[in-house]
Amino acid sequence: DRALVWFRRDLRVDDQAALYHALRSARQVYCAFVLDRDILDALPRADRRVEFILAALEVLDEDLRQRGGGLIVRHGIAADEIPRLAEELDVQAVFVNHDDEPQALARDARVAEGLRSRSAELRSFKDHVVFERSEVLTGTGGAYGVFTPYKNAWLRKVDAFYLSAYPVDRHAAALAMSERAGGVPTLGDIGFQPAGLTPHVGRGSRGAEALLEDFLERIGEYHEKRDFPALKGPSYLSVHLRFGTVSIRRLARLAHERMHGGDRGAEVWLSELIWRDFYHQVMHHHPRAMTASFRPEYDAIRWETGPHADALFQAWCEGRTGYPLVDAAMRQLSQTGYMHNRLRMVAASFLCKDLGLDWRRGEAWFAQQLLDFDLAANNGGWQWASSSGCDAQPYFRIFNPTSQSEKFDPDGRFIRRYCPELAALDGKAIHAPWQRAPLAMQGVGYPRPVVDHAEARERTLARYAVVKSRA
Ligand code: FAD
Repeated sequence: DRALVWFRRDLRVDDQAALYHALRSARQVYCAFVLDRDILDALPRADRRVEFILAALEVLDEDLRQRGGGLIVRHGIAADEIPRLAEELDVQAVFVNHDDEPQALARDARVAEGLRSRSAELRSFKDHVVFERSEVLTGTGGAYGVFTPYKNAWLRKVDAFYLSAYPVDRHAAALAMSERAGGVPTLGDIGFQPAGLTPHVGRGSRGAEALLEDFLERIGEYHEKRDFPALKGPSYLSVHLRFGTVSIRRLARLAHERMHGGDRGAEVWLSELIWRDFYHQVMHHHPRAMTASFRPEYDAIRWETGPHADALFQAWCEGRTGYPLVDAAMRQLSQTGYMHNRLRMVAASFLCKDLGLDWRRGEAWFAQQLLDFDLAANNGGWQWASSSGCDAQPYFRIFNPTSQSEKFDPDGRFIRRYCPELAALDGKAIHAPWQRAPLAMQGVGYPRPVVDHAEARERTLARYAVVKSRA
């Protein structure tokens, strides 16, 4: 009659599936989080996500305490800590929400085994997406590989049942306090240092609430503004969706209702939330594609390697490619932990198709730098840009970084924010400074383009020819 809720990527009390099911089924419910050494020990000592997580845990602990519970935080290996805690607390079941990343599934299998040997069980629920795994399949029972028909099927299936909230508060009386809930450790306690990031997304579920409130005032303009990085167009909620500090059901419900009220912005935004579900089901059906090309013939491509390739990669990471929009994007990433969606596409395309580097190098850099890093979405985005993914950009479609810049940052406002050395250039010159204002560029410390786009384009078409011959 006692249960433990193990929080992972669901750091909230509101509308939380595992928490709800635990409260419904047990008389005393404990809550825990493991700062998992299997993950943390491999990270650099200053990691932007770790700070976000600790702040989110503090808010979660407060929210649980207000309801009579509290958060037990352990620092160790989950497969040891959770079974041990289950034994100490004498619980019969541990409740979690599904985490379908391959490594998380392997971890959960070890935890379940540890629990079984102590006569307890692991019970897992859907919480992270609206539809998961095989919930949306094609007419013949296969997984969708193309987004639009997936989205149409998603929209046909969705109804109030799938979007309604789990009424956690109605059952909160079962929350139990343990003397083990001794507060959330500090960064220093777990051997980390501050990452010195400019925080722009708020703390935990309260931060998500503030962002959502702000976004709902602008959601009607989303479809018009979302492609222009200088404008406040998107919601900036991605990190909160990643760590579950906001409920996806709540967001999808709000968007769905507005869409039915004729709101075009909400309709387009809902479509983005459906992309998120889409990539999650791709990960479930094709875990192999999390490390290899979704289309195997793309693994025959020979990417650039060696010292020159390494130097190009370094220039890309540091925002020194000589293409202002790409550089502004890469600097936004390192300074804020966020990158605008349009720029993720531009920067990713630039890495594969201008620099000729393996998409996996870029994917790994994003994985380290993004606050909202999510395996399914990041891999999906990278394989879209490299053309190796399902429903990807065709390989012969190659973004021109200068025209992307002219189109999506027409006045250079975004570029000026992150490349102040270009601030004096006018709206036309700023997109291609070496070409259009060579004199003004002398001595400002901004690099010449590391590759010539037209030549790189030809090299890329030649490089990708191997795909055509194998497809
Ligand atoms: P909004 O425009 O407000 O969108 C709302 C939500 O929809 C996002 O928070 C996100 O959860 C979801 N979403 C939007 N676009 C996509 C998409 N294309 N695929 C999946 N979900 C989407 N998103 C991540 O959450 N984590 C990543 O690691 C990630 N890596 C990416 C890498 C590349 C190369 C590309 C092209 C895209 C990547 N995306 C990733 C998708 C997208 O860029 C971000 O979700 C978005 O920029 C986050 O900002 P927002 O919350 O303001 O988005």
